[in-house]
Formats: sequence, structure tokens, C-alpha cells
Amino acid sequence: MGSVVLGQSPNSPHGDLALVGGTIYVSPAEEPIRDGVVLIQGGKILAVGSRAHLQVPQAAQVLDCSGLTITAGFWNSHVHFFERKWANAATIPAPELSRQLQDMLTRYGFTSVFDIGSMWENTRQLRGRIESGEVPGPRIRSTGEALVPPGALPSETVLNMMGVMKFPAPEIADAAQAAAASRKLLDEGVDGIKLFASSPRGAPLPESAMQAAVSEAHRLGKPVFVHTNTSADVLAAVQAGVDIVAHTTPHSGPWDERILAAMKERRVALTPTLTLWKYYLRHDRVSAREQIADTEVGQLRAWVAAGGTVLFGNDLGAVEYDPTEEYALMTEAGMSFRQILASLTTAPAERFGESKQLGRIAAGLQADLVVLKEDPSRNIRALTAVQYTLRDGKIIYRASQ
Ligand SMILES: [Zn+2]
Repeated sequence: MGSVVLGQSPNSPHGDLALVGGTIYVSPAEEPIRDGVVLIQGGKILAVGSRAHLQVPQAAQVLDCSGLTITAGFWNSHVHFFERKWANAATIPAPELSRQLQDMLTRYGFTSVFDIGSMWENTRQLRGRIESGEVPGPRIRSTGEALVPPGALPSETVLNMMGVMKFPAPEIADAAQAAAASRKLLDEGVDGIKLFASSPRGAPLPESAMQAAVSEAHRLGKPVFVHTNTSADVLAAVQAGVDIVAHTTPHSGPWDERILAAMKERRVALTPTLTLWKYYLRHDRVSAREQIADTEVGQLRAWVAAGGTVLFGNDLGAVEYDPTEEYALMTEAGMSFRQILASLTTAPAERFGESKQLGRIAAGLQADLVVLKEDPSRNIRALTAVQYTLRDGKIIYRASQ
């Protein structure tokens, strides 16, 4: 067998690749296949099964996965390409761009991401360079610029300290402005809309403004994400018809029955971003950090207990890249390995209308896969111990050891 080159299709006659010998979680709902085989052809999964039942074609390039664990490629449904490192994405040298995508995403197994707040034109160019095959990277969906009520964003000084590039966010105060700003972004091709429900320095966005943005997005079948600062924001946004609540809100106390019932009834999904709030309090007293951590974990625990949908999302770009602590906090909230795996695979694929192509390991789906060094059903931290990340059957990340 020959060697597999990063970002390239294998050189076998039919482009076949076989992942042989691993433990395969084909979906979070099914028992894993031990000593399994995943056959890949033309970027898609041709077959999956146990080695005893599935013959590896002689022409296929074999990737030995003995002792390793294989899952579908991970989604991160709350990231931002707004750090200064992504500015002028069209001109960043390919090797550097590739390293940056690896450091933030592919080394942790993310093959699909939803960027919910960045400069749309810049993110579109970044995506274009990945899609052209110039640099290996994940599938990117983006809302482009977030729509904000006046005063919602931190000052320029703070944004600069956060490492965020300078770009204008459209300000909206009423339904007419919300509809116009949404339409403009949707005309420019964004994949969803992101709203800030309130501003620490002004009035919250009226529910009618959120409704106007929602109806523009839904007319095109696109989702609406909301940044929430408080429980009241969550309730207002959910009533206005948003699809994804982008944060827990530990600063305003636990979520009560009324909020949980409204979220459940409207079938929203949540990206918990648990690490974020702890991270923002890293200069504060231990007791303050612990109180926030307890409250956010409690909110997620209550949402999961209510049967709510969770999409993995940790606000990458605003926090350190390693998602280990996020997985640990999700576990603390009572989520099992299979529930966390669903939040990384099947739940986002379904929510974003891609479950026929992505989210599971099954014949006919795209070969987006993560190969882990250990089985995360035994230790959730193994979700970050990535050996290979594959997108469309190509290895886009390979651990050096
Ligand atoms: Zn965010």
C-alpha cells in the first residue's frame, strides 16, 4: 500500500480508500462496529461493516485504523472567523492559511462549521479558497455580519484586545431596519442570520424586529441564530421564532419552567458555549467563576432533561481553541458520550438540512470522518485526541504521532 498524501485523493486506480480495523460509531444511536471497515470511493462512503463481512478491494489504499475509533466528521455550530489572523483572507499564503485552519478546527475533527458573526465578504473568500481545493479545511456556512441593536457590541478598544478585526456590524432598532438588513445579507448569499437580542448599553431589540428578520430568513429556508445576554432575551427571541439560541445565559440565573417550555415548544436548538463564560471570568474570584459554571451547567442540564436539542458550539474565535473543557462541562451537565456525539454529528446535520449527506457513516453519504486515538465512550476527552480528519474522503488533518 502506498502513502496517503495530505489533502490529496489516494493514488489508487479508482480513488478508493479503506479505513480498516477501527471501532466505528456509525451514528450515536447504534452499537459500534468492532474491527470494522469503511470503504470510500469518489469522496463518498461506499460501504461500512465489520472486517469479517466486508471485503477490501485489492486496488484500495488501506489506512490502518487498528486500535482507533471512527466517527462521522464533527460540526461546530458556533464559531467566528473574526480574529485578525483571517483578515484579507484572499492574500494569506496558502501554507499559513492551512495551518491556521488546522490549529482552530481540523486538528479537533471539525469538518463542518457555522460561522455566526464575521465579515461576510472576507469569510466568503476564505471559503472559496477551501472549496477550490487550494487549502484543506472544513465546510463553512456563515451568517456574515451579525445584526445588532445600537450599542450591543463591545467598544473598539475591547474588540481590539479580543483580537477581533475591524468591520462594521449593521445596527437595527426596529422591524423595518431588521427586514432591510436581513434582506441585504441574504441577497449577498449568507447561509443564515445572526441577531443580538439586547445591548448592555441600550434598549433590547423589539420582538417585532426579531420577527421581521426571522421571516426574511425563513422565506429562504435559512436559520436564525440569536446572541442572548439574559433569560429574558431567550424568551423574547424564542417567541419571535428564532431557531438557534447561541448561548446559555448564566448571568441572569437559572432557566425556569416557562423558558424551558417555550424553547421546547418552539423546537429551538442550543449551542451551550459553556467554556466562554468561565473564560470571561478568568480574572475574577474563584467563587464567582464557580457560580457561573454551576449556573450554565444547570441550564444545559435542564434543557437536556427536557429533551431539548443541543448543537455542539463553543464560540471558537472568542475562546481558546482546545474544546476539551467544553466536552467535560457538557458531561458535567449530564450529557452522555452518545448525546455529545449527536450534538457533533446527527443533530446539526438534521437541523441544517444536511442529514442525507452528512452526520452519519452510511453508504452514499459524504466521507467526512474523524479517526480518534482512543474510544471516547470511555473518556470524553478522547474526542480531542484526533489521529486523522477526513473530508470528502481526503485526509485534511493527520496527527504527527
Ligand atoms: Zn459567538
